[in-house]
Amino acid sequence: MRVTLLGTGDTTGTPTVGCDCATCDRARERGVERSRFSVHIENERAEESILIDLSPDFRHQFLTQDVPLPDAAVVTHIHFDHLDGLGNAYRIFDSLPVYAANEVDPETGESVAETVRRKYDYLDRVSVHDVTPLEPIEVCGLELTLVRVDHPPLICYGLVVVDPETGAKLSLSGDTSYDVPESSRERLRDPDLFLADAIVPAALCDRHPLGGSHHDADGVPRSFGTKHMTREGALALADDLNADVTRLVHTAHYYPADEAFEEPLAVDGEGYRLDETGVIRLDTTPAESASTTD
Ligand SMILES: [Zn+2]
Ligand SMILES: [Zn+2]
Ligand SMILES: [Zn+2]
Repeated sequence: MRVTLLGTGDTTGTPTVGCDCATCDRARERGVERSRFSVHIENERAEESILIDLSPDFRHQFLTQDVPLPDAAVVTHIHFDHLDGLGNAYRIFDSLPVYAANEVDPETGESVAETVRRKYDYLDRVSVHDVTPLEPIEVCGLELTLVRVDHPPLICYGLVVVDPETGAKLSLSGDTSYDVPESSRERLRDPDLFLADAIVPAALCDRHPLGGSHHDADGVPRSFGTKHMTREGALALADDLNADVTRLVHTAHYYPADEAFEEPLAVDGEGYRLDETGVIRLDTTPAESASTTD
């Protein structure tokens, strides 16, 4: 399977509109972007692809990245940056099945699937399919499993994608704190590629009204407030999951400029091929690491 990171930013993206912070300036200088979250997964054998989350930047992403339009989509949760791009399906698709979890969220009184169905009921070419978390389904020849994560107050899911032919495995943390339940960790474990929410470095937790949480033995917060992992938390989760390659996503422009483009923080357009031999990086994005020789 071929995995393309279409959107690697948080809800405002980098550069953020109207922002002239050093990190947004640096992104403009380097010609890189972190648009709102979305991942494209192509089953090259079947020539079919799945879109994980519907970014408000959908149009820009498909105009700038060399990937086919998806044959199906998955919605992890109902926040704007993951769902509101679905309106782009209008007049673009003959049909688009959208998969989402069927558990009722006490916060909204609806499951993610029900919210998507209600909000987009005017799109008659979109069909919403209920998915039971922890039960694998087959989509475009790949095996998908939604796993509950921790993103209060809303219910949210991470995702496991396995190619049954090659055994290649992609895991996505979804938007989550470090407090991912063990039943979900079990499914996410041993991925070839892991995409982990790492909104800011732990050092910025003192800027959050709630501070940090889920501190490690050295007192470093692994969650920023209660909803997202810190960089340190995401790397600790990657370690616990025994990830082969990890890319940090859903990152904010609050990373200091000299840290914002360091490895393993992802930028839009990164591409990976996962097969029986492991992970191969496909793209040649202008990453700072590429020029590092010492
Ligand atoms: Zn900025
Ligand atoms: Zn969210
Ligand atoms: Zn988000």
